[in-house]
Amino acid sequence: MSITVNSVSKSYKSQKALNNISFSADKGQIIGFLGPNGAGKSTMMKILTGFIKPDQGAVFIDDIDVLKNSIAAQKVIGYLPEHNPLYAEMYVREYLQFQAAIYKVAKSQIEDCIEKVGLTLEANKKIHQLSKGYQQRVGIAAAILHNPKVLILDEPTTGLDPNQIIEIRALIQELGKDKTVLFSTHIMQEVEAVCDRVIIIKKGKILIDKKLKELQDSKQQIIEVTFNISCDEVIFQKLSNLSSVKNTSDNNWQLTFSSDKDMRSKIFDLAQEHNLKILGLTNQNKNLETLFREVTM
Ligand code: ADP
Ligand code: MG
Repeated sequence: MSITVNSVSKSYKSQKALNNISFSADKGQIIGFLGPNGAGKSTMMKILTGFIKPDQGAVFIDDIDVLKNSIAAQKVIGYLPEHNPLYAEMYVREYLQFQAAIYKVAKSQIEDCIEKVGLTLEANKKIHQLSKGYQQRVGIAAAILHNPKVLILDEPTTGLDPNQIIEIRALIQELGKDKTVLFSTHIMQEVEAVCDRVIIIKKGKILIDKKLKELQDSKQQIIEVTFNISCDEVIFQKLSNLSSVKNTSDNNWQLTFSSDKDMRSKIFDLAQEHNLKILGLTNQNKNLETLFREVTM
């Protein structure tokens, strides 16, 4: 099933948590929802799952209007909330039976889910006896009991040790084979490891929404150069790997190269050739690293 978010805004009193957010996710995609703390990730997920209402905007799962028909939406969505609320004193199987009864799911689903998330050996233990990674599996098992086609996981790997992180990532990938998955994280590497697509939000706004492949391929270098006098754009044409030229003001130029090699010396040679003096020259590489810094700073 697909997810569509149209111009969603949400404030908590004077605190703006989401500012006109729109995106969509196609069936079968695994989407990383990346952003620093306070970016609005959990708020967006609570709206998507129909638990809170936005001030403005609309949300659809296929053609189900989540705001108007949250029960129908919840039938097709599995949700692992942040901090994974579990009943620690219950046994794993007992907890899943309890959840299945609440949500009127056939009991036969329970054993399937236990196996799918790798809890077979732990099913008779009390939840508080499990490691954090296994507790997270219990939360995921509870989220998929009703075999939802859309899975929304709020920071499923936060607080886990490195081995547990890898195991949960593998589980997300496995589940993503027949579900649309949106999961939040503040770890860029996680997105690289698991996702088809990445949406980066900060302060309630989307900064980037791209296929991971596009991001990885777009190794761009942006050079800003200031000459002492004006010049004609044609002089830049001989530079290799140049993808765009912009005359930002008077004698300032912004040159974008599809390369992460430092192109500044080429600009220097070009300036000499045309009798131009360089008054300013800076370069910036845009890749996953810089993107990551942009969101976390
Ligand atoms: P994230 O999950 O990306 O860390 P949240 O969606 O939890 O971000 O929060 C977004 C912003 O909204 C933050 O500034 C947070 O402090 C604020 N916020 C979240 N929930 C509430 C709430 N119930 N009441 C007031 N402010 C909130
Ligand atoms: Mg959160």
